[in-house]
Amino acid sequence: MHAGIIGAGQLGQMLGFAARDLGVTCRFLDPSVSPPAAECGEVIQRPFDDAEALAAMAASCDIITYEFENVPVEALREIEGKVPVYPPPKALRLAQDRLDEKRLFERLDIPLPPYHAIDSRPDLDSAAATLGTPMVVKTRRLGYDGKGQFVVRSTEDLGAAWDALGTQPLIAEQWVPFDFEVSAIGVRASSGEVRVYPLTRNVHEQGILHTSQSPVDDAQLVTRADEYVRRMLEHLDYVGVLALEMFVADGRLLANEFAPRVHNSGHWTIEGARTSQFENHLRAVLGMPLGDTGVAGHAGMVILIGTIPEAVRALEIGNLHDYGKAPRPGRKLGHVTVVAGSASERDELLRKVAKTVT
Ligand code: AMP
Repeated sequence: MHAGIIGAGQLGQMLGFAARDLGVTCRFLDPSVSPPAAECGEVIQRPFDDAEALAAMAASCDIITYEFENVPVEALREIEGKVPVYPPPKALRLAQDRLDEKRLFERLDIPLPPYHAIDSRPDLDSAAATLGTPMVVKTRRLGYDGKGQFVVRSTEDLGAAWDALGTQPLIAEQWVPFDFEVSAIGVRASSGEVRVYPLTRNVHEQGILHTSQSPVDDAQLVTRADEYVRRMLEHLDYVGVLALEMFVADGRLLANEFAPRVHNSGHWTIEGARTSQFENHLRAVLGMPLGDTGVAGHAGMVILIGTIPEAVRALEIGNLHDYGKAPRPGRKLGHVTVVAGSASERDELLRKVAKTVT
């Protein structure tokens, strides 16, 4: 079987490795030179919306999927009639606009922080009056890893927030003094079968994911998170892996955003789960039966950003994944996964790895 994957970054690379084990050939579309997934299959080096390249992918692949969120939906719509495109472009369209995304959470009765849509400077003032400060102003589109965001600490910051972001549609959210963050990662097959991974607890630094731990020892939280991600998968008639990121504040879950793709916070599933999110995504989109999402112990992951220190290699703890990318400040270059028999043992290993990174 042949899978066409739009995007050839590290998530594409991990999909490519999983594909190899399933006997599936991958073909990628990505404009960058020597992207990480190049070692797993042919890369068509053209823009993501290149009509000719997309038509060639559609003609030569059994399905088309994507590994990042900023794929132009129109480009997918062009090929949708020729080849199955999963996850459904409708899900991608909703995830690309924070306002649509929040309205979806509301429709599905998934709790979320209070928010206010902003299309003008007076809207920004009424957002502050309604939500209070601090609040976070975010661009509605094309934001990631905390980019396109401005924290308004008091009304004195409103002018600066407008100067920084005011040229595009925005949204303001009440600041959530959360206890921690979680992601619920689920997978749905075209048959309607759904499986959900054990809940993952995440730590972000400066908007970028830094550490993940799974499972989470809170049965009530796990049940509710499971229910919310299932609601999303079913409502969207979804096929593939979806990650729902939420804040946990005073025992409540509040949805922040969802990703219609395999997710960084699920890297640990490669070694820590019986079937990785990458394999299960491919299984879902290629119409194969889904694999067991159970965890084989207590798993954790640390992302390596900007550089992969020699000390991390020398540690020989867990599994080091080097994406093969050139070092650059703020760039995700790799990650280390650890799996242990107990949560405390795992956390000790994570601490050792994190110490060599900082
Ligand atoms: P996002 O790009 O929306 O995922 O935001 C990146 C990170 O910024 C989140 O994972 C949180 O750590 C933080 N953040 C975003 N929105 C809020 C909020 N409303 N309240 C508190 N922290 C937030």
